[in-house]
Amino acid sequence: MSLASSFLALVISFPAPNAALPYIEKSYMIGAVDRGIEKITVQGKEVEVYRTGAWATMVDVGEGTNTVSITVGDFTTNHTFKVAAKPAPPDPNAPKAKPKEWKKLDYCGDEPKEKPKGKAPGEITVIIDPGHGGGDTGAISPHGLFEKNANLTLASIVRDEFSSRGWRVLMTREEDVALVLTERPRLAHKENADAFISIHHNAPAANQDASKARYTSVYSWNKIGEELSKAISEKMAQSLKDELVSKGSLHANFAVTRNPEIPSCLVEADFITSPEGEEAIFSRARQKKIAEAIADGFAAWLEAE
Ligand SMILES: [Zn+2]
Repeated sequence: MSLASSFLALVISFPAPNAALPYIEKSYMIGAVDRGIEKITVQGKEVEVYRTGAWATMVDVGEGTNTVSITVGDFTTNHTFKVAAKPAPPDPNAPKAKPKEWKKLDYCGDEPKEKPKGKAPGEITVIIDPGHGGGDTGAISPHGLFEKNANLTLASIVRDEFSSRGWRVLMTREEDVALVLTERPRLAHKENADAFISIHHNAPAANQDASKARYTSVYSWNKIGEELSKAISEKMAQSLKDELVSKGSLHANFAVTRNPEIPSCLVEADFITSPEGEEAIFSRARQKKIAEAIADGFAAWLEAE
């Protein structure tokens, strides 16, 4: 083994040393190695090298401290990270949770706002809401990357895409700050906005396989929100048809979509919890593709009867 390749073999990127991960049963490991090196063992077992010029594999892990040792040629590296304790399974005898109570936002009226059909682009205002922020990280990727940051990045690209089409666009946050959920739509009312779009990346339910769950979906609460949500989800489904399943437009009682007045929806662009989803989410080309699809959907909604 040459010195260069042995050096490359040591470039193991994730999980970050001493990362604290939520409860998972598998962790995604990726490293850079020379093409010539084909035999890589993790915990003494040979693993499949399925990316050219690099390798990636899922490793079984469990709660507590995990040390994963990787051997490439003559070199062994150890990677230590912590996995949170497994959450207790839900008690089947527990009383059913009461449906969530909610009250109308005090700053929000009852009359659905009319669609700004036929208006000049500059007279149309859209609020883009990057989900989570500050201490609320949102979901966490296999490599310990936060949903809040993925949301802000994608939302900024969506903002730029909307601006380039002439629409007036404002964001609920432009930095890594915490915002109260019920306060997010306030900006939409203050600015007399025509639409509110929240940007998120999904995580699976406890009974789904985090390494596999992946699809895109758009959520809304009422009819005016649904029209917007459908238009956006259709364009996203078209644009991503070769790479991601679309679950279309779905109903959800979210604080940010529960808006009687302003058409509101929430986009779950992909699953940040699966290795492939994570890779796609942090790719520039994919971010741009989704931003364009959301803008195309918004344009289609504006034009629809
Ligand atoms: Zn989220």
